[in-house]
Amino acid sequence: MKQLFGTFGVRRVANTVLTPEFASKIAAAYGTKVQGTIAIGSDPRTSSEMIKHAVTAGLLSVGCDVVDLGMLPTPAVQYAVRKYYDGGIMVTASHNPPKYNGLKLLDSDGIGTPDDLEEEIEDIYFNDKQERVSWDKIGTAYKRDIIDEYIEEVIKRVDADKIRQANIKVVLDCGSGAACDTTPYIVRKLGCEITTINCQADGAFPGRNPEPTEDNLQDLISVVKATGADIGIAHDGDADRTICIDEKGQFVYGDKSFALVEKSMLEKNNGGTIVTTVATSNAIADIALENNGEIILTKVGDLVVARKLQEVDGLFGGEENGGLIFPDFVYGRDSGLATAMLLEILATTKKPLSTLIEELPTYYSQKRKIECPDDKKSEVAQGILDETTEYEVDTTDGVKIITDDGWVIIRPSGTEPIYRCFSEAKTEEKATELADWGMNLINKFI
Ligand code: MG
Repeated sequence: MKQLFGTFGVRRVANTVLTPEFASKIAAAYGTKVQGTIAIGSDPRTSSEMIKHAVTAGLLSVGCDVVDLGMLPTPAVQYAVRKYYDGGIMVTASHNPPKYNGLKLLDSDGIGTPDDLEEEIEDIYFNDKQERVSWDKIGTAYKRDIIDEYIEEVIKRVDADKIRQANIKVVLDCGSGAACDTTPYIVRKLGCEITTINCQADGAFPGRNPEPTEDNLQDLISVVKATGADIGIAHDGDADRTICIDEKGQFVYGDKSFALVEKSMLEKNNGGTIVTTVATSNAIADIALENNGEIILTKVGDLVVARKLQEVDGLFGGEENGGLIFPDFVYGRDSGLATAMLLEILATTKKPLSTLIEELPTYYSQKRKIECPDDKKSEVAQGILDETTEYEVDTTDGVKIITDDGWVIIRPSGTEPIYRCFSEAKTEEKATELADWGMNLINKFI
């Protein structure tokens, strides 16, 4: 059982738990296992520079060489690691508030490190088994700028001329995060008319909270309406998630933009394998069915989806929170290519974004949660399983009960003492009914 690592790396309050000493010891434990040349990058948090120096020292002390890629999105580090290096560490707390920071550790394919490696790293950490090298074997550190290459690689993967001819008006909100030196330049190089807000990197995140929720994107929504833009685009703190706003100023849920890009990817490639999680909308499966695609459903989590895409050589994948994975480019959620793809869809279809969203299969969903002590979680799951034997049940992640009207998934959180309950149906009433049923089932067995 892992004690330090969560679903993707380590995340703690900076300089109380995540001190330079802690970061350095973890990095040295990682470097002991991985060896070779390790790329590091960071988001603009006030603590990132401090943590990055500690990580560098830890890696050098076990004989690794370190390439500092500067401030850039997590997917740009993942791209660089897959192409050039033996491993990578991104210093970021993703969408969490500014006082947090964290480490996302990558394997040589640029995917988050697997569980067994994290267990070994924890063993080295807790037992001080870092293999420090003699003074003459200490690694060397240097800087490299990968941002221009990352931007060019994104642009190569879309029909740039078509986008340039479409005169698309974009409002971009990087949330003062890691995309400030990438997405604005991608959008401009694609010939769009761009208005930026929160596109100067600032670790205090003065403009908005780094999580791209509807509440946090009210300024973006206002500017889209005021400027008559075709699309608003926002990222989270480390720029692996992409959320959009349509030309009417309406927040577009992540499963809708996922479905839109999925459709385009399947059309362009004449089919392919799509990977998403059991908690994602049936719209993804409907679109796959209509467009010669095949669908694989995994447990919830971007790393699980990324690994499955690698394993099956999939075409495209993602989650309902605005995380889109293009495995041909990066084995992880990418913001640069997600943005470029959305622009390409607008340029190709010549339709307003709201129309494109309306044309997608319609489903209604409900997302709820309820407190449940950790030691009760398995009892609750078993109780629900016993209670629902007459239904089709999927236990890939928690208990997903599939009925003629839709589905409800009841899933224990891996990090908090809560149960999550998501439902989806063709009507709002049915979605509510299913969510009520799911919540009642949880309550019955707590
Ligand atoms: Mg993130």
